[in-house]
Amino acid sequence: MSVQAAIAGDLAMSCARCGAVNLARRSRGGGWTLACAQCGAILERTAARSLDAALACASAAFLLLIPANLYPLMTTYALGASRQSHMISTAGAMLKDGRPGVAVAISLFLVVFPLVRFGLLTVVLGRLKLDRPAPWLGRAFRWANELQAWAMADVFLLALVVTYARLATTISVSLDLGAYCLIGAGILTLFTRATLDKAAIWEAIAPARLPPRAPTLACEGCGLVLPTSEEGHACPRCAVIVHARKPGGVRRAAALTLAGLLLYIPANIYPIATLPIGFTPTQYTVLEGVKDLISAHLLGLGLLVFTASFLIPTVKLVGLAWCVISVLRRSAKRLVLKSRVYELVDEIGRWSMIDPFVIGAFVPIMAYNDIISARAQPAVEAFTFVVILTMLAARSFDPRLIWDAARSAS
Ligand SMILES: [Zn+2]
Ligand SMILES: [Zn+2]
Repeated sequence: MSVQAAIAGDLAMSCARCGAVNLARRSRGGGWTLACAQCGAILERTAARSLDAALACASAAFLLLIPANLYPLMTTYALGASRQSHMISTAGAMLKDGRPGVAVAISLFLVVFPLVRFGLLTVVLGRLKLDRPAPWLGRAFRWANELQAWAMADVFLLALVVTYARLATTISVSLDLGAYCLIGAGILTLFTRATLDKAAIWEAIAPARLPPRAPTLACEGCGLVLPTSEEGHACPRCAVIVHARKPGGVRRAAALTLAGLLLYIPANIYPIATLPIGFTPTQYTVLEGVKDLISAHLLGLGLLVFTASFLIPTVKLVGLAWCVISVLRRSAKRLVLKSRVYELVDEIGRWSMIDPFVIGAFVPIMAYNDIISARAQPAVEAFTFVVILTMLAARSFDPRLIWDAARSAS
């Protein structure tokens, strides 16, 4: 079944925001946009999306990630010597400074997950392009999608910009081949997202049947609309166990949000790193780091780090708490606003990893002597766990519960 053939005809689409099932009529060629009849969310927008473009972007990103991991990223020069960093030495530096949790997180987010995600996408899209279906395609495409938030080559790209700009004001620094490959891979990551028409790919893997008249539920992994009798069974398309709503979602989201909130206090009070800015080792908390960037006349980068490290975690914790509490209280107010807040929280959470990445990028290339040396401090671990816990909280919360609570209250 080719993608073009698959996207023609009727299609049952379940809204990920509110759970309503919408019936769409897809036509051959031409872009279209479908909005949910209940909540107005855009279910799928096909304009400017194509299998060929997504395959080109994903495979090029995968190919660039290999040299980005093998070649050096940055070199600094001081005291007649030089220091070089690689992608993996960012994690190694954290391990050496006694932060194994951050080291594991960085190796997964920067090395393993991007390679796996783009490797899987290349294989799945390539197989569809060549008309060579396989029973494991659905599972592989679901894994690739689940890794979207956790593969952070694009986030590291911004961290690299911050690191380079801050270093360039005090020390001689150059970007190396690995950094250029990473810049390419990071940009292609964004292009892959823009060109990937997920609904059409799912249709090409296995077309959705027309929804049965009986009550239906939607698969969490691929959105396939199924009769409720399928609850607890494996989805025929992506093999995830199907549930009408994520089981235990509210309790888990509440516990993870609370844990994130508790860790957020030490993450902000204690120093996150010691940096030899101005050739005097100074300890910085998250907000002191922002102040330093602004006083170095890097106002834009200061605002960027402030947004990523302080504003986003705060919005995330408040937003998640609001969603969880309103579900527990069965509130029927401001449903669309709450759904949008949830979507924002789910989308932006990963960008908070900029700060730990910047510290990881600093440490290996600022290791000259006792004075010119950067060290990670305890708060970087607390901070990294705040980011991971709130990302997991957003993932485990089921936004459709916001609408369920309103329905059961009325
Ligand atoms: Zn909806
Ligand atoms: Zn599925």
